[in-house]
Amino acid sequence: MTQSRWGRLIGGFLLMLALATFAGLVFGGLPWWLLASALALLGWHLFSLYRLDRWLRGNMRSPAPGLRGVWGSIESLVRDLRRRLRHRKAQFRNVSEQFRRSASALPDGVLILDSEHAIQGFNERASQMLDLVRRDRGRRIDNFIRDPEFVNFLKVGDFSQPILTRSRSEPDIHLSCLLVPYGEQQYLMLVRDVTVQTRMERVRRDFVANASHELRSPLTVLNGYLDNMADDPEIQDGWAGPIDEMRRQTTRMTAIISDLLELSRLEAESSRAGQNKVDVAGLLSVIRKDALARENRPEVIEFFLESSQGLLGEERELHSIFNNLVDNALKYTGTSGRVTVRWTVDEEGGHFSVADTGVGIDPDEIPRLTERFYRVDRGRSRLKGGTGLGLSIVKYALQRHQAQLEVTSSPGEGSRFSCHFPPGRLCNPGF
Ligand code: ADP
Repeated sequence: MTQSRWGRLIGGFLLMLALATFAGLVFGGLPWWLLASALALLGWHLFSLYRLDRWLRGNMRSPAPGLRGVWGSIESLVRDLRRRLRHRKAQFRNVSEQFRRSASALPDGVLILDSEHAIQGFNERASQMLDLVRRDRGRRIDNFIRDPEFVNFLKVGDFSQPILTRSRSEPDIHLSCLLVPYGEQQYLMLVRDVTVQTRMERVRRDFVANASHELRSPLTVLNGYLDNMADDPEIQDGWAGPIDEMRRQTTRMTAIISDLLELSRLEAESSRAGQNKVDVAGLLSVIRKDALARENRPEVIEFFLESSQGLLGEERELHSIFNNLVDNALKYTGTSGRVTVRWTVDEEGGHFSVADTGVGIDPDEIPRLTERFYRVDRGRSRLKGGTGLGLSIVKYALQRHQAQLEVTSSPGEGSRFSCHFPPGRLCNPGF
């Protein structure tokens, strides 16, 4: 089609030249005839080009000028392209309208943020939850969620977990915000109202804390009476065994209640531990003394302090972490075994580890160790006075210090529990 148009164009040009040559030969003045015909052709092309240019610059929907020859071919090509473009635009409008409608039907707030965390768009739910209006587009999200933990969450840039925060306009409303990176440094922010779940969680926590508190006083009374009975020479011999068993059980219950209270306290705290200077060497020397004084302890207990650096955090919680891990190693290692405790510092942070040559743990069980009341061997844990809550406390306390727990173990050979603290939690000695 295009080729035939170009053929006709060249054919017409040659015909015109032939006619001009013929006229020149018949009437004389051949160069003038040739010049006149070339100018006429040029004029027609210029006029066609002018009409095409006006049409292209005009409205997309203005009628085509109806050009002829090769210009007609270009005109129909442009018409075709414009039609396809209109079709694509309509399709795109349709898709974006559908997306807008489905986003506004979502029960969660959805926002699009750019690399600077400025709002590019949001759905209706997000505008209700965060009190946003149209002109807020382009403003940074931390103008609307001012919670320092959220601001820090944006600064740190670790978006693997959602963050809990509160609505700026209604502080009683609890929100969970998840940032999903996509495209080139853009983020989809999903905001969910978790007020009901947070309230239920608080009720559960308060219930456990209150029940534990209430149980503590009667247990203290029972313990007191049992101690007296154990020391009372008037109580017949046959009662010594049952009294001992009752004392063991009340001691266990007291330990469980004290661990439950510790867990409730940790859960009630904000997600970040404070920044008090804690002398790791001092903490470990107290734990070491207690370990060496234990009955039926493993034969070798070694403490290696390879750094004098301390940690920034809560002393009570750090003591609880170190003590629980050392206590477990002592409990689950025989008297002929070895327990090695180490504190080291490198460019990745501070590392506290407890290695033992005890019973070890099946690798399948390792992911569940930090669940509340989870014990690999219930009987053994009970026999050793375990509560099943020690490692849950360790997990919570470590989380509050942005630290990670790593467990490696092989059954029958022993285990290693390591805590990795980030460099930002380290501090120089000099207390
Ligand atoms: P418990 O009070 O029962 O020791 P923890 O939460 O401290 O509870 O530990 C959970 C379980 O993990 C324990 O019951 C035990 O089976 C296992 N465990 C913990 N530390 C060790 C260890 N060093 N060696 C072998 N098993 C361990």
